[in-house]
Amino acid sequence: MVELTNDLSPYEAVQYFFDDVADQLGIDDQTRAVLKGTYREIRVQLPIRRDDGTVDTFYGYRVQHNGARGPYKGGVRFHPTADLDEVRALASLMTWKTAIVDVPFGGAKGGVQVDPRELSLSEHERLTRGYMNQVAYIVGVKRDIMAPDMNTNAQTMAWMMDAWGRTHGHQPAIVTGKPLELGGSYGRDAATGRGAVMVLDEAAKQRGWQPSERTVAIQGYGNVGSWAARLAVEQGYRVVAVSDVNGGILLPRGLAIDLLDKHVAEAHTVVGFGDAEPISNEELLELDVDILVPAALGEVVNDTNADNIRARMIIEAANHPVTPVADAILSDRDVMIIPDILANAGGVTVSYFEWTQNIQEFKWSENQVNERLAERMRTAYRKVSECAADLETTLRRAAFAIGITHVAEAAHLRGYV
Ligand code: NAD
Repeated sequence: MVELTNDLSPYEAVQYFFDDVADQLGIDDQTRAVLKGTYREIRVQLPIRRDDGTVDTFYGYRVQHNGARGPYKGGVRFHPTADLDEVRALASLMTWKTAIVDVPFGGAKGGVQVDPRELSLSEHERLTRGYMNQVAYIVGVKRDIMAPDMNTNAQTMAWMMDAWGRTHGHQPAIVTGKPLELGGSYGRDAATGRGAVMVLDEAAKQRGWQPSERTVAIQGYGNVGSWAARLAVEQGYRVVAVSDVNGGILLPRGLAIDLLDKHVAEAHTVVGFGDAEPISNEELLELDVDILVPAALGEVVNDTNADNIRARMIIEAANHPVTPVADAILSDRDVMIIPDILANAGGVTVSYFEWTQNIQEFKWSENQVNERLAERMRTAYRKVSECAADLETTLRRAAFAIGITHVAEAAHLRGYV
């Protein structure tokens, strides 16, 4: 059992959330051992020739957490903090997430420990191809399917698909989040942000909140954060603050996202946009807004700032943005937290749609994708919300309870335990 302390690593934190719920569900020790640990982990060395001819050596990881419900599935991030512990945590979250939205996948995650800002485009390509080649023997269309995460995108997936195809033949379903031209799905780029706004909408309806009367602050303006901002504004919410790695901006009357996007396209940062006030990432998290959407790094809401958080609702678009101690503090204050394994599950849902389209060699329209995404996200939200009401507990515990129950059942049926 992991004890609740301020210094839990990401993987210990996920295990804490798991144990907390496994106790309540009465999961036996043997099942618990199978579900809690990771099934397979690899660490690969990636020596990459720099553009100037020198060689730098990086390390990459792929962790397959649980495959009881189907092939392993999870993104790959390029980040200086990506290590085995973080990748294990993210792989475990994927296992529960895929079960909550009922897509037939297990959970996995990959990471390369690198600061991508120090890579040229060609170095990024060599590192990506090197990573795919090194992990190739444990992935496969029906074994383990990768997708984008922090600092990886559709281009990264195109290189991965190409690297794989050179040995195994052309199989677009080996990765999801590809460019449309290479078998990507309409709607995949927006899917995680769209899914987050869909669950926000469900929660807001439950609370009787009118979007036009509600303010939103979003940390991170990459794939997930920028789409969440665009779609929240489309729904009528007032997005007053956003940020990225360089800092944040605040405009109480609400940000015009189309103008902000033009600024970001030129400046490559949200900082310096129009007459918005500059703020720090720390200040953004503590703004007096209705809804806070962390959409960048993990552990940003923790024991040092949980008491200062003023938002009434937190949508965890990022993975593991709230530590267990902060989760307890905020839950005691009745701050509603929609957990990562529900809030950002739109990405893996449309990844599943992309994978099925690739296997059938068929393409759905954007409307079909978005309608099916809405159906899954809204159903998942309702189930989690009903379970929370039945168990008189938080949405996080309810989401874990649903995920663990489904995975335990699949593991028992297969005869794992
Ligand atoms: P991304 O690389 O496209 O964007 C990341 C954003 O975070 C950028 O705006 C970057 O500037 C910002 N950022 C980086 N370091 C920061 C810091 N120290 N402080 C503040 N901002 C910082 O990544 P993404 O794909 O949008 O992923 C964001 C989060 O969402 C991650 O936690 C990821 O695991 C999670 N997620 C992503 C997907 C997906 O489909 N891409 C799916 C599920 C979950």
